[in-house]
Amino acid sequence: MKTARKKIVISEFMDVSAVEALRRHFDVHAHASLVDEPDRLRDLLTDADALIVRNRTQVTAALLDGAPCLSVVGRLGVGLDNIALGACRDRGVQVFPATGANAAAVAEYVIAASLMLLRGAYLSSAAVAQGQWPRTALSNGREAAGGTMAVIGFGGIGRLVAQLARGIGMQVVGYDPQIPEDAACWQETGARGMSFDDALRAADVLTVHVPLVESTHHLLGPAQLDLLKSHAVLINTSRGGVIDESALADALTQGRLGGAALDVFADEPLKAGSPLAGVPNLILTPHIAGLTVQSNERVSTLVASRVMDALLAGEHDSTTTRQL
Ligand code: NAD
Repeated sequence: MKTARKKIVISEFMDVSAVEALRRHFDVHAHASLVDEPDRLRDLLTDADALIVRNRTQVTAALLDGAPCLSVVGRLGVGLDNIALGACRDRGVQVFPATGANAAAVAEYVIAASLMLLRGAYLSSAAVAQGQWPRTALSNGREAAGGTMAVIGFGGIGRLVAQLARGIGMQVVGYDPQIPEDAACWQETGARGMSFDDALRAADVLTVHVPLVESTHHLLGPAQLDLLKSHAVLINTSRGGVIDESALADALTQGRLGGAALDVFADEPLKAGSPLAGVPNLILTPHIAGLTVQSNERVSTLVASRVMDALLAGEHDSTTTRQL
């Protein structure tokens, strides 16, 4: 039986105050564990008006078919590869990502990882505490200032990374097939647009900020990694499938690449036996580049307000999905 209040299901963690704000107007079912309880999630969705997810809940056509009242999907983040956008469009379901709300967190992660990898001296705590003194081995780190940051994908996050990199004295080059090399945004951010291969060749730091779509799958494979300088460091906070993990592991193990930081993986969580295990100069983090106390608040507040507005507006044009 459908309740008078509209029903929102939240299947992954969301900032508590944003959930409370939704509860004032709606019947809210928020359980961070729902993503791992598919039967319970399906049951709750049978009469739900809105679903709010992070990146783990797969919003498939089949899930939507079991949620005939659904009109809104809120995404607590920006990547939409876990949401069947075509199926949402076909069913008149609006999709609201938190565009921009976690960009600062990702950009700071990129700068921090760049500095750590270039310097190569921050992972010696255990050795120093044990009385070793690896000073000679750790004296060959590089400074970021004067080096070149190559940004692949010059959207919201890529541009913010470019600005921060300029702030620490780096030159910034970039590649984005949607943005001509003479577009104003390059100059505005102090960056220079160039071809993909030229950007790879120029990089002391290579950072990737593209969506995962068919054309970006394994965008960085063996041939592309071979174009990088042997001291270059690579940072991927976009999506795992964008980099060929085996090729990256080989390049690092064979000293053809200076280091890498990966926040995202083709298969998350990373499984035991991954080619990335035990690889030198590799920082691995569990998809947290966009997650900070502040970004969690911003993301949750933004998505709550967009979902609330859409539900309170009551009706929408069921033939179109809002452009994202
Ligand atoms: P955005 O849409 O603003 O920008 C993406 C850019 O990539 C666009 O300008 C697009 O033209 C460009 N692009 C598409 N195909 C390309 C290609 N083949 N080569 C180069 N550029 C290409 O997106 P955004 O908000 O900047 O986010 C970028 C990525 O970061 C997304 O994949 C998102 O999922 C990921 N992300 C990860 C985290 C995290 O916690 N790790 C957090 C936020 C975003």
